[in-house]
Amino acid sequence: AKELSDQNQQPLTQIPTEYYQFQSFPEYTQLQQRLTQIQTLEIPNPYFQMQESLTRDCTQIQGRRLINFSTYNYLGLSGDAIVSAAAKEAIDRYGTSVGASRLASGERLLHQELEREIADLIGTEDCIVYVSGHATNVTTIGHLFHSQDLIFYDALSHNSILQGCTLSGAKAIPFPHNDWQALDEMLQDQRQYYRRVLIVIEGIYSMDGDIPDLPRFIELKQRHKALLMVDEAHSIGVLGEHGRGIAEFFGVQPTDVDLWMGTLSKAFASCGGYIAGSVALVSYLKYTAPGFVYSVGLSPANTAAALAALRLLKTEPTKVKTLQQRSQYFLNLAQTQGWNTGTSQNSPIIPIVVGNSLTCIQLSHFLFQAGINVQPMIYPAVANHAARLRFFISCLHTEEQINMAIAALAMAFSQVSTQ
Ligand code: PMP
Repeated sequence: AKELSDQNQQPLTQIPTEYYQFQSFPEYTQLQQRLTQIQTLEIPNPYFQMQESLTRDCTQIQGRRLINFSTYNYLGLSGDAIVSAAAKEAIDRYGTSVGASRLASGERLLHQELEREIADLIGTEDCIVYVSGHATNVTTIGHLFHSQDLIFYDALSHNSILQGCTLSGAKAIPFPHNDWQALDEMLQDQRQYYRRVLIVIEGIYSMDGDIPDLPRFIELKQRHKALLMVDEAHSIGVLGEHGRGIAEFFGVQPTDVDLWMGTLSKAFASCGGYIAGSVALVSYLKYTAPGFVYSVGLSPANTAAALAALRLLKTEPTKVKTLQQRSQYFLNLAQTQGWNTGTSQNSPIIPIVVGNSLTCIQLSHFLFQAGINVQPMIYPAVANHAARLRFFISCLHTEEQINMAIAALAMAFSQVSTQ
């Protein structure tokens, strides 16, 4: 209270309820208003919709089977018999938790096998896995950078990158999406005033499905003596002939990127995140990164599932090829319809940008009734007036299922616009 009164110059004579009751927090009241607005449309809440089955090319909701475009099961490996069997075997052998930080009794051979497999896939010296993809970005960025450092991050970066920047205490500045020329100028102006400078980009952007010009960013980071981090949450297992990610897509040296980050939750059908890079980076993180040192080791089931998924990616490269072919098939059809697919290219994330949030929710509801499950992405996940239906393509989707989705969306557009 003393601090508050010093800040405001005046002591509080009465403490308002918004300082000590959650239901009075203004941010909670604002959330309630947004949810009420959705209710006025008299359609079901699109959030927390219960999925009653495996979510692969299809899902079951309210007892109905729908074609599913709402989950990032890119290679169809969540629900794959081999991956599930590996997870079950790991539980039988090691139990459901490793029961400690890996540093202190939590280490299992599976962890090391998974890290070796990821490092080999990407082409780095080493790798460290964390219990969550989100936590990987927060703790890694938050730990490696400090108040005299500078972080340039793409304006469309994922929340976990922003949180990591905040935690680090470094000066963090967004650069216009994918605009390496603007970044070049920013580096030119500011590099000399800081100690470490980090550039953070993503392999495929999660709301837009577009890919940065990685060779340009590598050239910038070399010329300006900065570090480059690439979040491959949506590009690992997806881009490149063998699914090795954006480095393979562009044919660049994996060692030209300082920090390769990725999640185990998408193509690798598990849960967790990784940082792949040099031995120096990885061993420093293994002994000191708070989200690793002070957190339990990745669970046996999650580790084994990711490991099995990675091995399947190697032995069955056709899954990647099929994913790429089906993504292109969807994109071509959507563009033929004249829909706004934004900047999506060569990616299994295909947005249909609608603009208005409520229209977007209505469209997704029409699609739901027509047997298609696709999530509306609205503010604040995307900019206001940039609401979109975000389609995640999986290699399991058949061309027929895609045809049906496109036809249903065409119908939904005609119904919504005539209202
Ligand atoms: N980075 C990006 C770009 C993401 O899209 C996500 C989640 N979708 C994450 C990090 C966090 O990964 P996870 O969901 O596995 O925690």
